[in-house]
Amino acid sequence: MQNKGGVISAFVNPQNDGTLAFIERACLLYDENGRIDYFGEVPAADRLIGYEILLREKFVTLPGLIDLHTHLPQYEFASQGAEALLPWLNRYTFPQEGRFSDDRVAELQSLNFFQSSLSHGTTTTVAYLSAHSRAADIAFSEASRAGIRAYLGLTLMDRNVPEELLTTAADAERNMMKLIETWHKKGLTEFVVTPRFAISCSGALLDLCGKLSRAYDTFLQTHISENRDEVSETSRLFPEAKSYADVYDQHGCLHAKTLLGHGIHLAEAERRLIRERESVVVHCPVSNNFLGSGILPYQNFRHEKIRLGLGTDVAAGYSLSMLHEAKTMTEMAKLRAHFDGAKCSITVADAVYQATLGNAAALSRAHDLGSFAIGKQADFCVIDDSLCDTLLDEEKNHYSALAERLNRIVYRSHNNMVETTVVAGKTVFAR
Ligand SMILES: [Zn+2]
Repeated sequence: MQNKGGVISAFVNPQNDGTLAFIERACLLYDENGRIDYFGEVPAADRLIGYEILLREKFVTLPGLIDLHTHLPQYEFASQGAEALLPWLNRYTFPQEGRFSDDRVAELQSLNFFQSSLSHGTTTTVAYLSAHSRAADIAFSEASRAGIRAYLGLTLMDRNVPEELLTTAADAERNMMKLIETWHKKGLTEFVVTPRFAISCSGALLDLCGKLSRAYDTFLQTHISENRDEVSETSRLFPEAKSYADVYDQHGCLHAKTLLGHGIHLAEAERRLIRERESVVVHCPVSNNFLGSGILPYQNFRHEKIRLGLGTDVAAGYSLSMLHEAKTMTEMAKLRAHFDGAKCSITVADAVYQATLGNAAALSRAHDLGSFAIGKQADFCVIDDSLCDTLLDEEKNHYSALAERLNRIVYRSHNNMVETTVVAGKTVFAR
């Protein structure tokens, strides 16, 4: 049990039809269980008795941001090296992830990662961990302590990576079972079955991942079709498969709780298969630019009714900010449309929807995360958008409607603009 609370400010509220509602002044109240019990006009004072109210009338409140694809052990080297995917993994990722055999590294970096995520307004993170089960256990503990909603997975590899990162199917099963028992659906944490990608996984390991994720109703996260060299290496390693997506499907890894990072180069038959399996393609545009992987045709995928998500993919993504990711998503959609000779219909509103209620839907949590409504979780971030304004305080910006303020929040996002982050009614970050 915790204190009842609330916030009075401007609100941006994503709607189930993919649009945003802009409310210039409203009040959100939540009960001692962290669930919203009022959202609407600022009520008479007696309705507020017993609630700790944040008076933030000059600020903008957004639903908590949801990062659907990121890598905890990579945050330290964000912005380092911009080679293509496969050499970058060898040069930066594998050596850094190897350091997580040291519990102190795991503890410090987990703490830092979750606090940084919260400071960017992220209230739910879906992250890959290193290959070490002790480091995974530490990450879950630190997530619980930080108060963030965390879907975390022990990253599994049993071939084609340095020896210290290798596991076996038998060890992987034992380690996953222990983590599932301790952390799956306990408090705000969930375990995610996490084969890194087909290149580093044998068929037997993928079989185990498909089986376990179904048996224990966990999410399964992996990468797909991010880079052309990765795609050809995958078909060389799995000659019996019809395609990259078919590799995962043959081993039971494509289902409605599968989160597939990237998917840039997926062929039409693969997209059809993914849609049939109701799996989610998670778009990571900052990362794709950084490694020169290509541009996901997000607009076309949406048209084809493929379930979509958005993630930072740190550390090929160099920022933990989902607002920065939203900005890049709109820009890359325009660039892609330009090269396709098409008209771009992706807007800031689409990107903000995707980073909130859209990602909640990808996690099958649209009923209780991602927007403001009675009964939903009180997950939100309060933004001081004066930090992205173009005029000095004493001057009034003529572009001051809430939709215009949101444009500045997205395109001129500022490191310090998240003032407060609340998860399930608990203040977990305050500047
Ligand atoms: Zn990734």
